Amino acid sequence: MRIGAHVRSDTHPVETAEKLGVDVIQMFVQDPQSFDKPQPHPQTEALKASPLEIVVHSAYRINVASLNNRLRMPSRNAVALQAQAAADLGAFGLVVHGGHLREGEALDEGIENWRKLFTRQAEKGGFGVPILIENTAGGEGAIARQLEAIDRLWDAVGDQGAGFCLDTCHAWAGGEDLLGIVERVMAITGRIDLVHLNNSRDEFDSARDRHANLQDGTIDPDLLADVARAAGAPIILETPADGLAEDVAYLKEALA
Ligand SMILES: [Zn+2]
Repeated sequence: MRIGAHVRSDTHPVETAEKLGVDVIQMFVQDPQSFDKPQPHPQTEALKASPLEIVVHSAYRINVASLNNRLRMPSRNAVALQAQAAADLGAFGLVVHGGHLREGEALDEGIENWRKLFTRQAEKGGFGVPILIENTAGGEGAIARQLEAIDRLWDAVGDQGAGFCLDTCHAWAGGEDLLGIVERVMAITGRIDLVHLNNSRDEFDSARDRHANLQDGTIDPDLLADVARAAGAPIILETPADGLAEDVAYLKEALA
């Protein structure tokens, strides 16, 4: 199993990964709150030379589903730029949240905007790396909270090369039972490219997005290990830094 963690990009990611004993890392390529153009990472050469597998998480501000032009247009542009920055690091993908709509807006229109993200970029030669759409914990208007919505989304983007990132905290808080979730997702997307393995501070279906360490949340840690095993994809921990080393140790033991 390939086990990894989200690491800070403003330190030395390769050294951090070595200290943690992981072989996959996730990082940002710019301030996660901004749409600024990513700058080359100072450790690009070290990252490319290392045996680490790298995945990039896109900025949180991005919402390609939005019906608001002033948010959707810069979001599209940011996805293209961040995918290129990911390619420059030798990453295998760019994680992008499903996004959300405002009250009263039609899910189909948001999904159509997702499709346009891919079709418009295809005219320019496609993205630098595969786009991995991540499920979110939700709230009203979420595009990728529950599997029913993801099924509709996949009807629109499944033939566009979209990949999928399954976040266990988001699925749980979004009201999806984790028992058998890998099989249910695979039946829709045909692929799971990445797992964000996180426990949740909040209860099932709470719609709250607060990650917890693997043995320190409302989800049975054995169930998390089962999801990791079944998915067969690289695992990224996005758990609180204080317990991260214990999470890596727990997971290595559970998956050994
Ligand atoms: Zn996540």
